Amino acid sequence: MVNISIPANLLPSDGRFGSGPSKIRSEQMDALVLASRHILGTSHRQAPVKNILGSVREQLRQLFSLPADWEVVMGNGGASLFWDAATFGLIQNKSEHLVFGEFSSKFADAARNAPHLDQPIVVEATPGEVPAVQLADVDTYCFTHNETSTGASMQLARPANSGDALVVVDATSAAGGMAWSPKEVDVYYFSPQKGFGSEGGTWIALCSPRAVERIGAIAATKRWCPPSLDLSIALDNSRANQTYNTPSISTFILLNEQLRWMLDNGGLPWCVQRTTQSSQHLYTWATQRSFASPFVANPQHRSPVVGTIDLDGVDATQISNILRENGIVDTESYRKLGRNQMRISMFPSVEPTDVQQLTACIDYVVEHLS
Ligand SMILES: *Cc1c(COP(=O)(O)O)cnc(C)c1O
Repeated sequence: MVNISIPANLLPSDGRFGSGPSKIRSEQMDALVLASRHILGTSHRQAPVKNILGSVREQLRQLFSLPADWEVVMGNGGASLFWDAATFGLIQNKSEHLVFGEFSSKFADAARNAPHLDQPIVVEATPGEVPAVQLADVDTYCFTHNETSTGASMQLARPANSGDALVVVDATSAAGGMAWSPKEVDVYYFSPQKGFGSEGGTWIALCSPRAVERIGAIAATKRWCPPSLDLSIALDNSRANQTYNTPSISTFILLNEQLRWMLDNGGLPWCVQRTTQSSQHLYTWATQRSFASPFVANPQHRSPVVGTIDLDGVDATQISNILRENGIVDTESYRKLGRNQMRISMFPSVEPTDVQQLTACIDYVVEHLS
């Protein structure tokens, strides 16, 4: 192990660049401490906790400018559980999946293996690229706003002539850091430990009236569904600012505080401006270095929230290890991608100036390795 000590003036103010769990701001922790006596450790069926859940739902409506007839639905288990719930309660018979990385492929597998569904249409692209939607006889299109495993992201657009089909979007790392329009989407779901700097174990799904109608229509058919995966039960509970079973209250307090911070500073446009500033710096830097290049070739598909940088002539694992020794953590690439790569999150919580400090640190390490 090479020992390189990065000068203090180059270090970022916060060394957390992981793509989930991600940086939690200290003001969020302050909110948690403040809540520790009168909210934490109290019943989730009483007003103090229900008010936090209600505030999260209301602030999400504001952040995403949701039309009044949209629902904010919540449950336990994270985005991975939501895939299973969707195979029961959103996909009627047949779905189409754009697969361009680990997360999108897992949802496609869930649909493929569900015995009550037809075989899905799976349109796959090589990692780092984004597949083009194919118009097909399906009732649900499944997209991923940002593929966290590869750093490729897509613009959300409802396929032309898609009729009654729902557009269901995994926004787990994109939510809060990328722009989208509710007109183009029916379900926008995510876990809060990425762009919102909260904790894992919860899923949140923003649902259009068409999606709410679908949930009701499938529930009315009495198709078998385990209650913990039943979206109609989750919807009923969410409307009462509750979850079907006990939630992590601290997760909602951290999320509530983060939403307040985002809204106080100017809402989604402000968040997107921050992630854009961070990512433009990262990709410009990588383009200018002989040892680095953005993994995603098409600039339009380069993620503003999760940057993937291929390295050449230097060992990415060694650099990430040295950074870790210096308190800069989780810059390793997605484990299953198997590339000589660094992956850097630029969620709204990450200071754009810290991304600049980070690239200066990488320059310093590369210089002192050679
Ligand atoms: C992290 C992630 C998931 C899985 O989230 P969990 O909370 O671990 O279930 C799903 N999709 C995307 C795009 C992700 O980034």
